[in-house]
Amino acid sequence: GVNFKGLLKRNWLLIATVLSVLLGISLGVVVREYASLSHLHKQYFGFPGEILMRMLKLVILPLIISSMITGVAALDSEVSGKIGLRAVIYYFSTTIIAVILGIILVMTIKPGVSQTADHIDRTGTTPNVTTVDTLLDLVRNMFPENLVQACFQQYKTKRKELEPPKVSVNTTTIPPLATTIMAANITKEYSIVGTYSDGINVLGLIVFCVAFGLVIGKMGEKGRILLEFFDALNEATMKLVQIIMCYMPIGILFLIAAKIIEVEDWEIFKKMGLYMVTVLSGLAIHATICLPLIFFIIVRKNPYTFTLGMAQALVTALMISSSSATLPVTFRCAEENNRIDKRITRFVLPVGATINMDGTALYEAVAAIFIAQLNDYALDVGQIVTISITSTVASIGAAGVPNAGLVTMVIVLTAVGLPANDVTLIVAVDWLLDRFRTMINVLGDAYGAGIVQKLSKRELERMDLTSDVDVANP
Ligand code: ASP
Repeated sequence: GVNFKGLLKRNWLLIATVLSVLLGISLGVVVREYASLSHLHKQYFGFPGEILMRMLKLVILPLIISSMITGVAALDSEVSGKIGLRAVIYYFSTTIIAVILGIILVMTIKPGVSQTADHIDRTGTTPNVTTVDTLLDLVRNMFPENLVQACFQQYKTKRKELEPPKVSVNTTTIPPLATTIMAANITKEYSIVGTYSDGINVLGLIVFCVAFGLVIGKMGEKGRILLEFFDALNEATMKLVQIIMCYMPIGILFLIAAKIIEVEDWEIFKKMGLYMVTVLSGLAIHATICLPLIFFIIVRKNPYTFTLGMAQALVTALMISSSSATLPVTFRCAEENNRIDKRITRFVLPVGATINMDGTALYEAVAAIFIAQLNDYALDVGQIVTISITSTVASIGAAGVPNAGLVTMVIVLTAVGLPANDVTLIVAVDWLLDRFRTMINVLGDAYGAGIVQKLSKRELERMDLTSDVDVANP
């Protein structure tokens, strides 16, 4: 009928994307069965997918900068403060709910009790991080020392070792070059946990853009020029996103096919079955019950229609396991399908993609307790509380890039005295769990935008009124 045609027309991209996922999976299975590709050929196979990732990552920078600045400048500082506070309260409470849900599930299902750690191979290496380091890095990253560098710096930071090297030489006799080498030795590279998404210090840029946007908003006529510039930049970037999204089905087809061809150990899924069931059911409950319930109580609209509106972003997150690379699509779905006010999305979505990760928090708590169960390590109430707090910190600290949650996992483990090295027990299945938790991370950000919009309705309407008056009586 007519309706069906209209439905098809409106949702062609979503339909094409879902089809390409199915096609990609089948293609991967077939190629795996019938062709033995060399490592190099496998890489070629994933090439169209690699290009999609590159394009999505490419627009993150102009998107975050233009949306944050215009988002903040469009509101007056009092309103943006209120909206920011509401968003942070939402992020925090839903993350805690996710953690508690995860803990309840893992303690009832007990996926690690029937087996021991020895049955699973430890692979890979462990990064070295603590809670204090993570928090310090988080704050350090909020204040980039160089704006340009913040746009492309890699995952690492240099920090002075507290103890100077114990060499006793008469400094006056050392030639300058040697002094430089010695100085270089005291600075050691530490891996930064989180906040750097694909080489962009997102958190640092957000902090800068908030400050910059506030200043612009107060600058009057001159500020308007800048505001218009960034507004145009935002619009142009979103046009680019629209073009990129047309390529999406092709990219995703090869991305998922290449992944299926690449995975070597399928046996591990049997061994880790119950653990995966625990994580996945936790994510499912959070996405279909907890978040929708909160949304319904506050917004009084059908939450599942809202979820459906985000479908394109959710599939994208599932396919690329990165909330920051999904951000462009999240924007489009939230604004076009769910009609969330741009003043809200621009302000709230980039922050959400960086610090609000319900799925990751749930996963960290489940994984930590799973590892404790594997080690026959009894946790007391204090340690369980510690796990919930550190899981929350770890999810905030994790960047919106693939497997970031696995790295920050170390914080949770060391906080309760579990061997940090045991992260390697769960590495093999992380590629799959990562996809699902990223999807829930993105969903949480979207619901957050919807809820904050509802809570800020009065302020937004008042602003509409005053700007209308301005237009009417210039
Ligand atoms: N990949 C996740 C994300 O981008 C982070 C994680 O590893 O948990 O949201």
